[in-house]
Amino acid sequence: MPNKKSLDSMQEMVRHLRLHTVCEEANCPNVGECFGNKTATFMILGETCTRGCRFCAVGKGAVLPPDPEEPRHLAEAVKELGLKHAVITSVTRDDLPDGGAAHFAAAIEEVRRLNPHTTIEVLIPDLQGDEKALQVVLDAKPEILNHNIETVPSLYAKVRPEASFDRSVELLRRVKAYNPDILSKTGIMVGLGETPEEMTTVMERLVAVGCDIFTIGQYLQPSKEHLPVEAYVTPEQFEAYKEEGLALGLAFVESGPFIRSSYNAARALDAVQQK
Ligand code: SF4
Ligand code: SF4
Repeated sequence: MPNKKSLDSMQEMVRHLRLHTVCEEANCPNVGECFGNKTATFMILGETCTRGCRFCAVGKGAVLPPDPEEPRHLAEAVKELGLKHAVITSVTRDDLPDGGAAHFAAAIEEVRRLNPHTTIEVLIPDLQGDEKALQVVLDAKPEILNHNIETVPSLYAKVRPEASFDRSVELLRRVKAYNPDILSKTGIMVGLGETPEEMTTVMERLVAVGCDIFTIGQYLQPSKEHLPVEAYVTPEQFEAYKEEGLALGLAFVESGPFIRSSYNAARALDAVQQK
């Protein structure tokens, strides 16, 4: 586990390079463990989002054009930190014609150029269902293409009003159809009012599109303005979801109250590749 000094120097370096880590900015409870395992999650394409999901603390407002220096800065930070696994994510950029796909591809290519032994996971927005934009990201060959479904279909209108469950599942299907060597991954928050039966249906849909990795974590309300927590899911129920997902055919399921989309991401990659 990293000590406070090494965390401070990492934060200083990230700021110096005008980068943002989700680990730090979301006060993620897993930061010690992930940094210790040489994993971190970077946010590219700015800090403000063009959508307004009711569970998310990311700021909404004016967006800036992509920073052409960002892919290089990101690659330098990954090198400086000696990361084994780098997760790259972004806000949703519905203002950009390709949703930011070319910037994601540039980030993957630059990180790989400077860090040939680091595995790369991208956690992308839905790109408004643009298949060509998705292929731009896939052509850069990340090891893992992650796109979160976030919740069950019946709660989309309440939780993700500008998104579509079917569109997100279709994105996951297209990953495996286009390049089966890239692992597909998705995640969901529980505690928003979903039922176990709905969770079963979701996992069946994921198996049907060949999804490899599934993460399940507890929703926590970022502020009083956000959706309330409907339930704190018990550890037994988290375990039951995991066992059910594996029995249905998912290759790797990470399930527990503190699980976040990028938690233990390198372990998931190793586990699936060894199967
Ligand atoms: Fe960072 Fe993700 Fe790990 Fe949290 S779970 S510390 S956001 S890599
Ligand atoms: Fe947050 Fe993503 Fe929704 Fe934007 S699209 S508000 S970053 S969850």
